[in-house]
Amino acid sequence: MKEGLSEREARFVMQTYRRADIDFVRGEGALLYDDEGSEYLDFLSGISVTALGHHNPELLEAAAAQAERLGHVSNLFFTEPMVDLAEVLSTGSIGGPVFFCNSGTEANECAIKVVRKHAHQRGIVDPEIITFQGGFHGRTYGALSASPKMAGEAALGPMLPGFRSVPFDDSEALRQAFDERTAAVMLETIQGEAGVFPFSDETLATARELTEEAGALLVIDEVQTGVGRTGSLWGFQQSPVRPDVITTAKALGGGFPIGACITSEGIGQVLSPGDHGSTFAAGPVAASVALRVLELVDRPEMLRWIREAGQSLSDQLSGLSGVESVRGRGLMIGVALESGLDAGILQADLLKRGLVTNAPRPDTLRLLPPYTIDDEQIARACQTIAEALEAVK
Ligand code: PLP
Repeated sequence: MKEGLSEREARFVMQTYRRADIDFVRGEGALLYDDEGSEYLDFLSGISVTALGHHNPELLEAAAAQAERLGHVSNLFFTEPMVDLAEVLSTGSIGGPVFFCNSGTEANECAIKVVRKHAHQRGIVDPEIITFQGGFHGRTYGALSASPKMAGEAALGPMLPGFRSVPFDDSEALRQAFDERTAAVMLETIQGEAGVFPFSDETLATARELTEEAGALLVIDEVQTGVGRTGSLWGFQQSPVRPDVITTAKALGGGFPIGACITSEGIGQVLSPGDHGSTFAAGPVAASVALRVLELVDRPEMLRWIREAGQSLSDQLSGLSGVESVRGRGLMIGVALESGLDAGILQADLLKRGLVTNAPRPDTLRLLPPYTIDDEQIARACQTIAEALEAVK
């Protein structure tokens, strides 16, 4: 790394991250290059963001063509890419109006606002949202309060009232938690930051049944699972439920910051002018890129490849010594290690060997490769993981 870079970072940047000592300067498809010219295979995609690979020519073309014409005007005016994107997102999911923002946490803030206003309109003065332990929805205060582990950080308190959590995937606890204040259930179909834990269809169906009975909403956070990651455009499409609200960000912009809260018909209409807003949201450049992302991802051959590539990765990883099991769906994969092995140590070793991954918990390595990986890269990653497992044992 360039001399003095880490010292300047320590001096001038708030120390909220533990960064690896690598300065990435260039990317091409599934490959990354650092400032010394070393090559890495990227099986993290900037935490599920660069899903169509680095330096994707089609996304660059979409961004450049729009930037040549117009970069930003704010949401006080109409811009066609924004309306086009809303239409594609709505018709390709749950059919109602969309609110745009710039990140996952903001998409969830909008969902919380919709839920609270919807509940107030039903006469609930003190609405409560039920979440699941292990769930992660972001770091602004609403989303933070909806993320049980982070919400427990007393030093960051007080949290927002109106959230209650139940144990992960416990449909009976969910049933018990319902009362007259319940405004919504909020969950990820596969908990990502917790370490790639899919919900059972039974709990998802229970959440749908209970919310429907109570007149409450089912909110599915698709920030990590959405935009093809699990092998369908949205994670919920492989489950028995259809939610009232979904949130998306990360891969939606392929690297450009954009997020959205998508609602079903009749739900998003609860917000009126002045209730919510964002200066940057769905500016013409980000919206044009997101449109191209959806065009490229939402194709049967692309979604089939994500499922096949995920299956091939899971099959090869399951056979490795040191791997206990493999969780997940499509290209969202959690590799559970045998006891005694530390995923953090493995991840650091893999990085030295040129494979970028991460370790969301001490017993799990997480893989979120770009959808553009090929068979050779899958085999190379598995070979590298096998060698690293031998080395850290
Ligand atoms: N929701 C889920 C499921 C996530 O995985 C994340 C980020 O990891 C977020 C929300 C927050 O997204 P962002 O970091 O874009 O605010």
